[in-house]
Amino acid sequence: MNKEEILIIEDEAQIRKLLEILLESNDYKVWQALSGKEGIVLAANHPPDLILLDIGLPDRSGHEILKELRTWYNRPILMLSVQDKEEDIVSALDHGATDYITKPFRAAELLARIRSALRRSQPGPATACITCDDLQIDLAARTVKKNNEPVRLTSTEFNLLALFVKNEGRVLTHHYLLKEIWGPGFQTETQYLRVFVGSLRKKIEDNPNQPRHLITESRVGYRFI
Ligand code: CA
Repeated sequence: MNKEEILIIEDEAQIRKLLEILLESNDYKVWQALSGKEGIVLAANHPPDLILLDIGLPDRSGHEILKELRTWYNRPILMLSVQDKEEDIVSALDHGATDYITKPFRAAELLARIRSALRRSQPGPATACITCDDLQIDLAARTVKKNNEPVRLTSTEFNLLALFVKNEGRVLTHHYLLKEIWGPGFQTETQYLRVFVGSLRKKIEDNPNQPRHLITESRVGYRFI
């Protein structure tokens, strides 16, 4: 089998080296670009399976590079961000980034995010019935079972759960969730989300205070796993 190829667009030599060692030892083929301009040229000449894109680049911001790549590149793009820059992360996710990881990152977490993004980018057979651990969700019949017991959800709760399930493993921003479920005009009503995520957790989690499925990504959004 051919190795999966990852393009790193990152100006910090130390981080590039670290990523190179980590990814090559996990059997990925690695390409490196030191600037946004170089990254776009490399990606266009030799489209990789996944791109790791730093937000803070010397020539152009990672946001601009992301927008440009997204006009033609539809494989996963993972943003590398420094901590406490949630607004950067939210903006990147809303403009088509697949996921993000904050620096300094843990190797195991980065590899898990990469595997998950690559897996999701290869769509399996479409199926209406999804089983996640103790949950069975039937998107066509709009029914949910937990440990084989039916769970009663309101229409909005089901719509929210279905959206999460269809984007399993992916962070969905507050803005995106509000727009998709409640429509344009509700994008800042984050208290709606808190209420509905809370009630959904009570119904689908063993312990709503320590959720295993519906995970909070602090100040960014939620992730269903
Ligand atoms: Ca940088």
